[in-house]
Amino acid sequence: MTDNFGRNIDYIRISITDRCNLRCVYCMPEEGVESVAHNDILKFDEILRICRVLAKNGLKKVKITGGEPLVRRGAANLIKQIKDIDGIESVTITTNGVLLTEQYHNLVGAGADSITVSLDTLDREKYAQLTRRDEIGRVLKGIALAQKENKVRLKINVVPVYGLDEKEIVSMVNFAKDTDTDVRFIEVMPIGSGTDFETVTEDDIKKVIEKHFGKLTFYSEKRGNGPSVHYSLEGFKGKIGFISAVSHKFCDSCNRVRLTADGHLKTCLQFEAGTDLKPCLRGGGTDADLEAELLKGIANKPKSHRFDEKDYFENREIRNMSQIGG
Ligand code: SAM
Ligand code: SF4
Repeated sequence: MTDNFGRNIDYIRISITDRCNLRCVYCMPEEGVESVAHNDILKFDEILRICRVLAKNGLKKVKITGGEPLVRRGAANLIKQIKDIDGIESVTITTNGVLLTEQYHNLVGAGADSITVSLDTLDREKYAQLTRRDEIGRVLKGIALAQKENKVRLKINVVPVYGLDEKEIVSMVNFAKDTDTDVRFIEVMPIGSGTDFETVTEDDIKKVIEKHFGKLTFYSEKRGNGPSVHYSLEGFKGKIGFISAVSHKFCDSCNRVRLTADGHLKTCLQFEAGTDLKPCLRGGGTDADLEAELLKGIANKPKSHRFDEKDYFENREIRNMSQIGG
């Protein structure tokens, strides 16, 4: 599938719920967001139908996200069913890890191609402040299990929001030492609650890593679905990655669209642009109608985000990241 700027779109991030068992400060307000009514959330059959139509048109990679995807019953089974669709090459999941211990073997059984756990700090108090829940113990247990079993590639995503804390960066990087776990640093994006936070830049984090671990060597092989850039460190089995949408804009090579839990095809993180697919899905639309809606939405994907223009507000996304899926 190609958009009007010639970009090949072969990756979709699907939010399967807008609910979450954490309340990360840069993602959701303390009181949560008003949940979409149960009936307005796409059923798994509707998600599968969208995936089948997209796969016929070149979709290869799917990421399951949320809210917290593991709070929705049957998430692993959905992964298995998406994996069975012709043309789909990889199905991955991003989770906060709170329910990972309970769900790990289901995810392995479903054939998930990677599990990404979001964890921004190893300090219990800071974690509780940042997520507004005291759950770090369960997350660490899930990560330890996934590293020990090592049946699915594990990645840890870190959004450093408390400034440049050397000690924290060092502990996070150490997750990549003894197992093939990638640790990826993500710049906070000015979306929803994220607008209140200053990002720590890739270049500053790299300086800290090189000071403690030696030279970061660019790793040219592909490790993920999209824009992360990876580096090796001598003596480390995993790689260190950076996803820097603000300081190192990657819109020219953007290969993705998003599907919100309530059925909105979202074509750029920053803008509301996209298509509400529910009228077609639930109003008797045929697969050909659905395909036409999807391809039209994809063709009109905006050229780039405008995060750097602080006073650019036209058509700007007002949802929080928990409703979009990251
Ligand atoms: N609940 C799951 C989790 O936390 O991994 C999946 C959904 S969460 C919205 C997906 C990713 O988005 C997480 O890694 C989270 O850290 C990231 N995220 C949320 N808000 C963000 C923001 N404003 N800027 C950058 N990343 C953000
Ligand atoms: Fe929930 Fe993930 Fe958002 Fe944190 S980042 S509030 S875990 S959806």
